[in-house]
Amino acid sequence: MTTEAAKVKTWRNWSGAVVAHPSGFLQPESVDALKAALRDASAQARTVRVVGSGHSFPPLCATDETMVSLEALRGLESVDERTREAVVWAGTNLRELGTLLASHGLAMENLGDINKQSLGGALGTGTHGTGVGLGILSTQAAAMTLVTASGDEVTCSEDASPELLQAARVSLGALGVVTRVRLRLLPAYRLRLTRRNLGLEECLAGLHEARARHRHYEFFWFPHSDRVMTKAMDLTDETPHGVGMGRWFSEMVMENAVFGAVSRACRMRPAWCAPVSRLSAKLASEGVLAGESHTLFATPRLVRFQEMEYAVPVERGPDCLRELSEYIMREQLPVHFPVEYRFVRGDDVFLSPAHGGDRAFIAVHQYRGMPLEPYFSGAEAIFRNHGGRPHWGKLHTQTAETLKHLYPRWDDFQRVREQLDPEGRFLNPYLRRLFLGEGARRPRNETGGARLA
Ligand SMILES: Cc1cc2nc3c(=O)[nH]c(=O)nc-3n(C[C@H](O)[C@H](O)[C@H](O)COP(=O)(O)OP(=O)(O)OC[C@H]3O[C@@H](n4cnc5c(N)ncnc54)[C@H](O)[C@@H]3O)c2cc1C
Repeated sequence: MTTEAAKVKTWRNWSGAVVAHPSGFLQPESVDALKAALRDASAQARTVRVVGSGHSFPPLCATDETMVSLEALRGLESVDERTREAVVWAGTNLRELGTLLASHGLAMENLGDINKQSLGGALGTGTHGTGVGLGILSTQAAAMTLVTASGDEVTCSEDASPELLQAARVSLGALGVVTRVRLRLLPAYRLRLTRRNLGLEECLAGLHEARARHRHYEFFWFPHSDRVMTKAMDLTDETPHGVGMGRWFSEMVMENAVFGAVSRACRMRPAWCAPVSRLSAKLASEGVLAGESHTLFATPRLVRFQEMEYAVPVERGPDCLRELSEYIMREQLPVHFPVEYRFVRGDDVFLSPAHGGDRAFIAVHQYRGMPLEPYFSGAEAIFRNHGGRPHWGKLHTQTAETLKHLYPRWDDFQRVREQLDPEGRFLNPYLRRLFLGEGARRPRNETGGARLA
């Protein structure tokens, strides 16, 4: 049965910047209902966008036609504790998934820094964590099942249709609706997290060694300062510690409530951004804690922002960051959000930003309601100059014309897309720009198929 949630007249993404008014919002409660809905949409020549938990920054999901949510298709379909694999419904969110897997003594190999995303959405945009030995989350998908625009079900795996799997692993919802994913997992494990406050140049000088030594390594650079906070995570058998009230205070009070209030003040008085960033650098607390992996990766993000993230070849990362720092200082840009720097192992997924080699992922953020320009356009120029590829779930200004030169398997992805969706039923204006090059270059505050609030 499909529930037509007529009340959903307005849809907003997490940042609140993308607003859409789908004429139909469907929550299929079975694969058969989903198939029927897609057949129906095809028969009426309607565009369909599938939405996860709406945590992407660009208008990937926006449509004024049919929006499909897999909210009702969640949980584990099956688990094989011996082979350490589980078939998971794509509507499951990552937080829920961590708990479900833990009850079977299993865990994801890696996760990003929030766990609110749906599995389908996280894989759909190439969501990643950090660790130079660890790929984007999609590399943990050993098989995927999709329902295509014609309402047919297709399953691809490493043994059967490996090429389709390499396309489906990061597909932005442009090939069909992913219903189930067979995930390769690890026995449940604990991590020890160590936070340190360092000088930027000291951090960059030791970066090669640090990223190789730790299972997970990342750092946050505080703009207008020469300080960073590093975060290293390694396997441990320590009893969980430091994950109680102390962590709650640091994450909920300092990183969210206080940071939220300070951000509102910076929005009113942009001149405060630089001193606030320098103060945050001084206050960034050092410490060690340990816990089950699925409870440690994510932190709450209650302060809303806009984000751009690029993946540059790993050896270009330090120069890229130095140029970004010079740019912010030279232009005296009002920025108080730290810049995040992470590592991802190279892979061969067609549209993975880490396709073909290890990458450093560098992310810039701006508080909601503060101007993105000229910060984001300057940062994007620096990233592109270093051979960067954009994170699909974050803001960027690339189009098919530029993207096709960044991805060696671009044409292969397009071929698969045209085979599975010849009528372009899954393309909204934003995706038509990314995949077909339609539409002139738009100013950042304009979207395809949606209005920015
Ligand atoms: C606060 C915050 C923190 C973040 N942290 C990280 C991070 O640490 N690392 C990182 O890499 N990214 C991060 N992101 C980005 C985020 O992981 C991605 O944007 C992710 O795609 C969001 O998942 P979602 O379920 O909200 O998907 P949505 O944004 O709803 O959808 C994303 C894409 O996936 C497609 N999709 C969704 N479900 C399906 C399905 N079942 N079948 C086919 N296609 C589908 C959609 O059509 C769309 O194209 C963060 C975002 C926010 C807001």
